[in-house]
Parts: sequence; C-alpha cells; structure tokens
Amino acid sequence: MTTDPISKIVARNLCTGCGACAGAFPQAIQMREDPIHGRRPVVADSLEGQQASAAALKLCAGQNSDWSDLPVQDDIDADWGPVLETWEGWASDPETRFKGSSGGAVTALAEFALSSGLAKGVAHITARKDDPRLNEAVISEDRAGLLAAAGSRYAQASPCEMLGPIAAGDAPVAFIGKPCDVASAHRAAKSVPALADKLPLTISIFCAGAPNLVATQSLLDHLGVPKEAKVLDLRYRGHGWPGLMQAKWQDGDGQQRESRGIPYAEGWGRILQSERRWRCRICTDHTGAFADISVGDPWHAPPEGNEDAGRSLIVARSPRGRAFVRAAIAAGVLVADARARSVIEEAQPNLRATHGAVWGRLVAMRAVGLPTPKLRGQRLFATWRSLPVKAKLQSVLGTWKRILRERLWTGVSISEPKA
Ligand SMILES: Cc1cc2nc3c(=O)[nH]c(=O)nc-3n(C[C@H](O)[C@H](O)[C@H](O)COP(=O)(O)OP(=O)(O)OC[C@H]3O[C@@H](n4cnc5c(N)ncnc54)[C@H](O)[C@@H]3O)c2cc1C
Ligand code: SF4
Ligand code: SF4
Repeated sequence: MTTDPISKIVARNLCTGCGACAGAFPQAIQMREDPIHGRRPVVADSLEGQQASAAALKLCAGQNSDWSDLPVQDDIDADWGPVLETWEGWASDPETRFKGSSGGAVTALAEFALSSGLAKGVAHITARKDDPRLNEAVISEDRAGLLAAAGSRYAQASPCEMLGPIAAGDAPVAFIGKPCDVASAHRAAKSVPALADKLPLTISIFCAGAPNLVATQSLLDHLGVPKEAKVLDLRYRGHGWPGLMQAKWQDGDGQQRESRGIPYAEGWGRILQSERRWRCRICTDHTGAFADISVGDPWHAPPEGNEDAGRSLIVARSPRGRAFVRAAIAAGVLVADARARSVIEEAQPNLRATHGAVWGRLVAMRAVGLPTPKLRGQRLFATWRSLPVKAKLQSVLGTWKRILRERLWTGVSISEPKA
C-alpha cells in the first residue's frame, strides 16, 4: 500500500516524470523506465524513503502548479505565461543549426551561456550511449556535449535529476527541459536557496506531450529495425527542419545498418503522439511559462520540405532571459528578427486549444472522483469557454471515454526493471 507522498503522486497519475524528487534524494528515490507509464520515481520502502518523499514534495510541480506570481500584462500573458519579447531565428553556427531540432536556438543559447561565463555547465538530457531508446540527464561543459544532445527526443526524459547535483556543487549551471521540468526547477529554486544561486538561466522547449517506451519501440518497428538488433542511434528530429526520424543498428554480423528516414509528421502523427501519457493531456503549460527563455517551432511559417534550413521561435519569459537573448543576438550567436508577441499563438494554435480543453477534462475527472493537479493562477475556465461547443463537449465526454478505455481509476503501478 502506497503511503508516501511521491508514490501517491505517481499512483494518482499526477507525475510528469521530471526527476526532481529523485535528483534531490538519490539514495531513497530512483527513476525507473516503465514502458507504459513512463519514467517515474520509485521510493525506497524504508523510513529514509518516507522522509525523502515528504521532503521532495515541495519540489514537485507535477501535483502543484501556481501561476499567481507570474506577471500578466494582457491576454497573451494570461494564456501563455509571460511573453516579454519574441523573435524568429536560428543558430548562426551552421552545424548547430543543422543538428538542432528547429533552428538550434536552444543549443546556441546554451553554448553562449558557457562561452560568456554565465554558467560552467548546462544540465540537459541526451540519448543513452548504451541504449539510445532511453535518455539520461547530464551536465555538459563543452560544445561537443551540447551538440551531441541537440534535437528533440520524443521520449521520456528527466532532466531535473541534475538539480540535486547542481545544488550540491559550487558552479552555476544553466538548465534545459520541457515546460514541466522547468516548472519543477522553478519550484525547487524557490524552496532551496542553494539551488536558486546556481541556476542563472532556464530554457524550456515547447512540448505537446512525451510518448513512452512502447511508442519508441513502435517507431523502431516502423523503421524496420529488427527487435533483437542493438540500436546504435535513434534520431527523432534535427539534421534539417523538422528532420527525418531515423535509426542505426548493428546486425547479427556486426555490420552497421541505417534505416530509411520517415518524415516528422508521419512519425509524430501516426506513431508517437497516441502514446503520450495521460498527465500530458491535463498539462496546462506546453510552452514553458516558468522559464527565462522558451523555444519552439515557428509552425505559422512551416518548412516546405522535411530537411529545410532550421528556424526557431524564441520567447523571452523573464527580464534576465530577455537580456540574455539580446546579448546572444548582439554577439552574433543567434541570427534572429523580432516578431510581434502574438506570434506565439499564431505558431501554436493547437496548443491553445489543448490548454482550453484541460478545464473540461479536469471537471470530467473530478466528477468521477479522480484526483487532479492543484492548479492556481491560470484562467483555464475562460480559455475553455472560448472553445467551440463541440470541442467543449468533447473535452468532457472524451475524457470519460478515455477513463473507461484506459481504466484510469486503477492508478499507476510502476513495473520492476528486467534483471
Ligand atoms: C516531447 C516533445 C514534444 C514537443 N512538442 C512540441 C510542440 O508541441 N510544439 C513545438 O513547437 N515544438 C515541440 N517540440 C519541439 C521543440 O520544442 C523544438 O524542437 C524547440 O524548438 C527546440 O528546438 P532547437 O532547435 O532550438 O533545440 P535544440 O538546439 O535541438 O536543443 C534541444 C534541447 O532540448 C533537450 N531535449 C530534447 N528532448 C528532450 C526531452 N524529451 N525532455 C527534455 N529535454 C529535451 C536537449 O537536451 C537539447 O538540449 C517538442 C519536443 C519534444 C521533445
Ligand atoms: S513530477 Fe517530478 S518531482 Fe513530482 S513525483 Fe514526478 S518525478 Fe517526482
Ligand atoms: S505535455 Fe506537459 S506534462 Fe507532458 S511532458 Fe510536455 S510539458 Fe511535461
């Protein structure tokens, strides 16, 4: 029977898999890759586990999200979190632009954080070398480490596992993650002063949802990678915009083989997106409201092909984020033109509709007694009310259907890893 708070958050389907709890208490809480439920924390069944879990609660943005302190000047900020200034651009370094998911802006900004002396390291995620189907959190201290991790990985990842080491270290470290990761980093920095001093910059990628390991395996099957093969590389994005999904593996004779590449729209639309976790469907921040800078795809001006020259949408969320982007442009690290702040909703119309549906989904969940995250300070009802009638109804009825189909009332139980 689950009694500690972190295990309850997982069991109640409120965990985003950010890794903050495990990063702060690695002896007592560890992240496990459940093929279906995602990368989730497992708490040691001991007094130490109970105590660590209770202490980790204050770091967790999976259960608690509070927008009340975020500055709001108009409807754009109320819908998307603070949008101080926006640009469309790309990394001036051709290799970074090519390898990046969109225009390589995240990697270029991270490298500038190192070269400008703002940070000694960058916490982010990268594909595991021994098994590229999985991701690991690392702190990179050079360009090679940053470039190796460029490109979005449409799979489970827990960059907040690095927050513990950052707080325990003595060097400033920039942080890159999804909106839910950055929300936990922000929450942790508010409650752990030793961490706040060492996080000079946070960068969020936009995120519509993280698929599970089952989805990654389906992708590999679709690419024709034999089940028994040793996967050497798996790319979801990058090498042009938006980039092809492609894998490399070693066959039975030890030869390296390369799969065909499939377009991003096919891989995401037909294979990966259906395996997003339920927690992602009630996510109310897909664009990184708590970050200093957030970066996404400028889908309002989409690429013509599958491997075009990349472009990023860059959003300054805080005064220090704005100053940093301006400095990166002035230093020639980014090539970027200013855009109207409303570009965020032109670029991501699907995400506004998604935010809007969440209020209906939460109502549907509460009506049948399912737990929901504690959300404060966001105008979810108003966004839901602005949806067309059909979408409003769908947000409630569709949730009830999904509750039945996915048996969401049974709770999440994380599988033991195979020996
Ligand atoms: C699960 C997922 C969903 C996404 N949904 C959207 C969307 O709805 N709209 C949209 O515009 N863009 C979405 N993206 C893409 C992403 O926001 C863009 O690619 C962004 O523009 C960054 O591009 P870039 O070239 O600047 O980044 P890059 O220079 O390629 O750097 C990417 C950085 O992100 C980190 N990263 C990669 N994958 C993950 C991960 N799973 N978790 C945490 N950190 C990671 C890497 O460590 C790297 O530092 C999604 C990405 C992911 C991983
Ligand atoms: S959301 Fe993050 S901090 Fe909360 S339980 Fe999950 S992994 Fe731990
Ligand atoms: S959709 Fe939200 S909860 Fe899910 S991975 Fe993305 S930011 Fe995290």
